[in-house]
Amino acid sequence: MKNVYLFGECMVELSRTSDGLLKQSYAGDVYNTAVYLKRAFNDFNVNFFTAVGEDPLSDEMVAAFEKENVNTDMVQRVRGKAPGLYMISVDNSGERSFSYWRNDSAARQIMQFVSAENVGYLCMGDLFFFSGISLAVITPNERDIFWQLLRKLKDSGVRIAFDPNYRARMWADKTEAKIQFERAFRMSDLVMPGIEELEQLYGFTEFSKIQDFCSAFGIEELVVKNGPESVCCIRDGELSEIDITPVETVVDTTSAGDSFNGVYLGARMSGIGVAESVQLAAAAAGEVIQHRGAIIPSQAFADKMGP
Ligand code: ADP
Repeated sequence: MKNVYLFGECMVELSRTSDGLLKQSYAGDVYNTAVYLKRAFNDFNVNFFTAVGEDPLSDEMVAAFEKENVNTDMVQRVRGKAPGLYMISVDNSGERSFSYWRNDSAARQIMQFVSAENVGYLCMGDLFFFSGISLAVITPNERDIFWQLLRKLKDSGVRIAFDPNYRARMWADKTEAKIQFERAFRMSDLVMPGIEELEQLYGFTEFSKIQDFCSAFGIEELVVKNGPESVCCIRDGELSEIDITPVETVVDTTSAGDSFNGVYLGARMSGIGVAESVQLAAAAAGEVIQHRGAIIPSQAFADKMGP
């Protein structure tokens, strides 16, 4: 059985329903990836390495993880802290914006749980996935602990996958983000950015520029997502562009990249080739964006992806 560890933060999500009430659910980029990976590849052991509080809301959150069959053995409990929260607002023109209350969340305490025992478990994984948001959540003075952990994982033969998921407001400035991301690029086997963030951080607008970037950091496999446009993959220096089918009625693009990542990772770990993995991942993301919210009803996902 494949054993995957995903490292990040899950938050309480509040969004307004059409009748003006607030709907509460649970989401966060890496958690979303874990959910879709598990839904699409049920025989994988998908573990979420995070911290929550000891409060009832944290209990409900962990129950939601369990309902998704995400393994909670590596979910840590922090006394006196609660989960982070975000709220989605939609203005008159339909534009979405996000407000966050996460600066003092339980998940920010995660580095104190990088014990020898937990590192031992993580080293037994086949894959470790994290994002730029996972990195931003760690307090800056604890980042060295994270990089030491990643080094140990790599030395133990765990494959490392990273999505930069650049969120400007989580970083002091672009330079700080780039320094952290470039450490991640150097240590990752598989990097899965969106074209937009590569443009924001590096000014890339074309895939050809990305090839040089890939070799500079020694990235074995790079998958660049670009909304409805073709997905660019560079593996061992070879560039391929894989067309996907654009979705006509997009309802909510939240979690498009996260669901893509989950299914792509599962497919690649199952030995499926790059092009077919992109097709599976794009089919999943294409379904996710036709529903509201980060985590869509499991039946709709299952209907799309098959048994
Ligand atoms: P992110 O959520 O990281 O911004 P993208 O918007 O690039 O990511 O989307 C990730 C993936 O979701 C794309 O590679 C594609 O497979 C799928 N996707 C996004 N928008 C569309 C769309 N309009 N039609 C079809 N697929 C889409």
